[in-house]
Amino acid sequence: MIIVLKPGISKKQEALVLGEIRKRGYRPHVMRGVARVVIGAIGDELTHASLESLVTEFPASVESVTPVQKRYKLVSREAHPADSTVTVRGNVIGGKKFQVMAGPCSVENEKQLLTTAAAVKAAGATILRGGAFKPRTSPYEFQGLGEKGLKLLAKARRETGLAVITEMLSESHADLVAEYADIIQIGARNAQNFQLLIAAARTGKPVLLKRGLAMKIEEWLLAGEYVLANENSNLMFCERGIRTFETYTRNTLDLSAVAILEKESHCPVVVDPSQGAGRADLVAAMCKGAVAMGADALLIEVHPNPAEAWSDNAQQLSLEMFAQLMRDLRPLIEAAGRE
Ligand code: PEP
Ligand code: MN
Repeated sequence: MIIVLKPGISKKQEALVLGEIRKRGYRPHVMRGVARVVIGAIGDELTHASLESLVTEFPASVESVTPVQKRYKLVSREAHPADSTVTVRGNVIGGKKFQVMAGPCSVENEKQLLTTAAAVKAAGATILRGGAFKPRTSPYEFQGLGEKGLKLLAKARRETGLAVITEMLSESHADLVAEYADIIQIGARNAQNFQLLIAAARTGKPVLLKRGLAMKIEEWLLAGEYVLANENSNLMFCERGIRTFETYTRNTLDLSAVAILEKESHCPVVVDPSQGAGRADLVAAMCKGAVAMGADALLIEVHPNPAEAWSDNAQQLSLEMFAQLMRDLRPLIEAAGRE
């Protein structure tokens, strides 16, 4: 911690602050500048009281308290300079090959899912998405098929060989969802549900962590830290748009987050342009942007008949639109140095 003292304070005031720093178990190093005194305090916040409250406890003496170290450790590039990868059923996410996860917002019935799975596979996707437990804003909207939906996902996997990603909504579903999923999705609305993150981590399955609706990047990295800190190194971050004042799109897809995460963390970065834009007509452009920004994978909603989808029908691509998008992305993926 770096503690900056206010200019012109007395020796006695300075000594009081130093005494308090020592009392809390930190070693203070005093640096005397021309105008003010700066103290470097060495110690560990996990086992000692924080020094941040010095600002309010000594308002006449302390100007600011700033942490030197980043609050996240295991997810940071410093901890692991090389890119980390997540392997699901032989598909490596975060490596040379650009991966595409695609499928309906919600699993609705067998025909809808199997038709979509076959089509996205034929177009080049390697992972099938589909919500069985849906986090709906209104309790009167379709909540997902639950276990029946998970069983349909397993059937689609058997028939196509695609790996499966699906959302876990509750700690009480952890074993159930882990039994069927190859990747556990933690949704935007649960991105800081720490007990849920711990439960997901402890299943041992790879975890895809969406960014919360109003989550700062540091908070998102710290939420990811919960997964790694619970002995699960298979974490992916997924940018899916944040809440802003803009109304042309459902959310504002923050592609700058892709570049920032790339610098700050070794974990693979996925972009979800479907929740990101909320509009099928914008998905292709968002995907191209994501590839150019250096994302490792896309998560795209695809439905055989988007207009009649039981959830998110404005943003799902038809099977034809998805096939066309995959063709259009190919040169961009190559230009980005991926396969
Ligand atoms: C989804 O992927 O369908 C979904 C609900 O995502 P998010 O949590 O990002 O809103
Ligand atoms: Mn959706």
